[in-house]
Amino acid sequence: MIGAWLVPSLVRYGTEEQKEKFLRPTLRGQMTWCQLFSEPGAGSDLASLSMKAERVEGGWKLTGQKIWTSMAQMAQWGFCIARTDPDAAKHDGITYFLVDMKAAGVDVRPLRELTGDALFNEVFLDAVFVPDEHVVGEVNKGWQVARNTLSNERVSLSTGGGLGMGVPELLKFFAGKELDAVATSEVGKLIAQGQSIDLLGLRTTLKQLNGVEPGAEASVRKLLGVQFNQDVADYCWASQARPPPPRSR
Ligand SMILES: Cc1cc2nc3c(=O)[nH]c(=O)nc-3n(C[C@H](O)[C@H](O)[C@H](O)COP(=O)(O)OP(=O)(O)OC[C@H]3O[C@@H](n4cnc5c(N)ncnc54)[C@H](O)[C@@H]3O)c2cc1C
Repeated sequence: MIGAWLVPSLVRYGTEEQKEKFLRPTLRGQMTWCQLFSEPGAGSDLASLSMKAERVEGGWKLTGQKIWTSMAQMAQWGFCIARTDPDAAKHDGITYFLVDMKAAGVDVRPLRELTGDALFNEVFLDAVFVPDEHVVGEVNKGWQVARNTLSNERVSLSTGGGLGMGVPELLKFFAGKELDAVATSEVGKLIAQGQSIDLLGLRTTLKQLNGVEPGAEASVRKLLGVQFNQDVADYCWASQARPPPPRSR
């Protein structure tokens, strides 16, 4: 799932060598990824990130901390943004890197949740070497690439199955159950909403195929899609608590 957010960014900004090396195995699910964006002091205001990348022979050395990195403990690669020019305006001095999670200096520390599971991690980078060939886009222009990846993430997370229930899960949940007129109308309304949101996604995909950035539709879709996933889960939960409709004679 996370690798899928990177793929369109690599298609748009990556070198031919990067496309050759990363696209096919990522699309096949043979190469797993994590997103090294958020930091303790850089969440909603991501461009205030402070991980630093220092120029060395043949590449860069990355030092700093990332947080909330989903599935970092399983990922083979991470896409990461770090500050390459501390004197530039905050959106300008950032570069986009592909980091080998097995490289020396990468330390992944899982964050245990209330459930006992550990999805998120803290990831510490201590002078991790990233070769020049793993810089995506231009040096100091990584914010542009990151925005593209974030747009893909919004599209992906707003579809069912990403982070909650969508139309397929709704249909599966009610398959074979008897619905009264009210429930039929409510479920129908949810299906219509879900399909409208999916059409926003289709519009975004068509824009991307035409070389246009996903833009505002992706944000709108994320907002509506995540609320929709929540509404579907709430509705299924509430319908379980309701008594079944009286049988028609
Ligand atoms: C399920 C999940 C998976 C995630 N996986 C990853 C991952 O793999 N990699 C990764 O890099 N990150 C990941 N994140 C982190 C996520 O992107 C951050 O939570 C996000 O960047 C917000 O940062 P924060 O938690 O520091 O909140 P903050 O930025 O501190 O925001 C806290 C609250 O303040 C509000 N707020 C912030 N600024 C303003 C403002 N200027 N005006 C008004 N209100 C404001 C926000 O809306 C929010 O309600 C994940 C998050 C979730 C929920």
